[in-house]
Amino acid sequence: MTLKAMTILELFCICLLPIGANAGIEGGAAAVDITPEVWPVYLRGSFFKKEAYTAHDPLHSRAIVLKEGDMRLAMVIVDSCLISRENLDQAKRKASQATGIPVSQMLVAATHTHSAPHDYARYDTEPEHAYVKQLIEGIAQSIIQAHDALEPVEIGYGSYREPTEVFNRRWFLDPDAMPANPFGETTDLVKMNPGITNPALKHSAGPVDPEVFVLSVRTIDGHPLALLANYSLHYVGKTPAGQVSADYFGEFARLIQNRLERHRPDSNFVGILSNGTSGDINNIPVGSPRPNRETFEQIQLVAGKVADAAYLAYKSIEHRSDVSLSMLQEAIILDRRVPSKIQISQAKSMLERAAKAGSEKDLPRHGVAYAQKVLDFSEQCELSPTVEILIQTVRIGDLAICTSPFETFAETGLRLKRQSPFSSTFTIEQANGAEGYLPTPAQHRLGGYETWLTTSRVEFGASEKLVRKLVGMMRSLKK
Ligand SMILES: [Zn+2]
Repeated sequence: MTLKAMTILELFCICLLPIGANAGIEGGAAAVDITPEVWPVYLRGSFFKKEAYTAHDPLHSRAIVLKEGDMRLAMVIVDSCLISRENLDQAKRKASQATGIPVSQMLVAATHTHSAPHDYARYDTEPEHAYVKQLIEGIAQSIIQAHDALEPVEIGYGSYREPTEVFNRRWFLDPDAMPANPFGETTDLVKMNPGITNPALKHSAGPVDPEVFVLSVRTIDGHPLALLANYSLHYVGKTPAGQVSADYFGEFARLIQNRLERHRPDSNFVGILSNGTSGDINNIPVGSPRPNRETFEQIQLVAGKVADAAYLAYKSIEHRSDVSLSMLQEAIILDRRVPSKIQISQAKSMLERAAKAGSEKDLPRHGVAYAQKVLDFSEQCELSPTVEILIQTVRIGDLAICTSPFETFAETGLRLKRQSPFSSTFTIEQANGAEGYLPTPAQHRLGGYETWLTTSRVEFGASEKLVRKLVGMMRSLKK
C-alpha cells in the first residue's frame, strides 16, 4: 500500500503502535539447584530405609512463567519423588508474595525420581529438616527467578513417539502362579513386575502411551529459552547406591540443552521433562530380555531416546507470539478408603504374629509393612475420612495441560487425550500434592500392588471423577 492510498484512520492506527512493541506473550525460565547441602539424607521410593551421602547428579526445581496481558501462570517441575500438598502450598505462597502470581495459577509437580530425599523429616534428623526448608525455598525461588526473567517470546508445541522404552508393568499370570498379597489374600489377578522371564507370563493388563510431547518457548529472535517435555514413564532407576540422582529427568534436561543450545555456552536455556501418566508404566521389558546395563547406563540410553524424540518434535514446531493463555484450578473432595474393622483387626494380628515369631518369614511378603501402613492410615482416616485434592487445566493456544496429584494410570491419560476438545493435550502427574496410586475401577477389580489398601488411598471411582472434572474444565477453557 502506498502512503497516498492509506486512509487517515490507517495512519492513526500505525502511529499508535510504539516501535518494538509486542502485544503477544511473555515468558521466563529458571532452574534452581535443590541438591541437599547437609548429609546424610534418606531416599524415597523404597520400602526400606536408604541413605545417601552425596549427589551423583544435581537435583533442580525448573520453572517456566508465562504472561499474556493480565494472565500470569507458573509451571514448575521438581526433581523429587513426591511432594506433599502442604509443602507445595507453602512454596506457592512464598512465590506468590514475591511475584503477585495467584497460587491457583501455579502448577508444581514432582518428576518422581526415586533417588531423591523425602520432602518431610521422616526420621526426624537435622539434615532432613534442613532439606524440607531448602526444597520449599528452592521451588519458590525458581518461580521468582523465572518471573524476573520475563521477556517477549514465541511459543510452539508438538509431539513425536518413543514406543520402545515404555512397558505396562501389570501382568496376568497363570492363576496358580499368582502369589498371595501382603494381606494374605490370593484374589489378585495381575502382578506388578512379574519378572522378565517368568514362565507364567500371559499378557499385560493395560496400554502404554508412547507420546513425547514438547512445549517450546523461544525468545522473539528465535533462541530457545525453555522446553517442557512430557513422557509417561515412571522413572528408569539403577542409580548409584548412596547417592541422590534426578534419574533420566535430569539427564534429559542436560541432553536437550546440548542439542538446542550447543553453540551458546552462556545460554540460560532450561530443559524440563515432566512425568505423564505412568502409574502402571515402567522401563522393564517384561517378556523380552535385554542385556544387563551398568549403573546409570540405562538412564542415559532412555534420556537420549526421549531427547531425540523431543528434538524431532521441536523441529516440526511452528512458533507464534500471538498465543492466548488461561488456567483453571478446582478443589475436589474424595472419600478415603477407610480401613474396615476387619482389616484393622487383621493388621493387628499380623503384627502380633510377627512379634511372637520374631521374624516375618512365615508371613506374606511385605505383610508387616502393610499391616503398619493400614493402622497408620486408619488413624489418618479417623481425623479426616475425606481428602481435598487440587486439579488444574492450563490452556496455551490450542494445547491443554491437565494435572493429577496421583500416580495415574496410562489409560487415564490416554482417555483425557481422546476426550479433550483441544487439538493437543497431555497430563502431568504427581502435581500439587501426592495422594498415592489412581487405578481405574476396572484395574481395581484386577487387584495387584497399585490397588492395595494404602498404596491406593481414595475411593474406587476416583479416576472417573477426575476425568469427568478435567474434561469439563477443558470444555470451559475452550469456549
Ligand atoms: Zn513410584
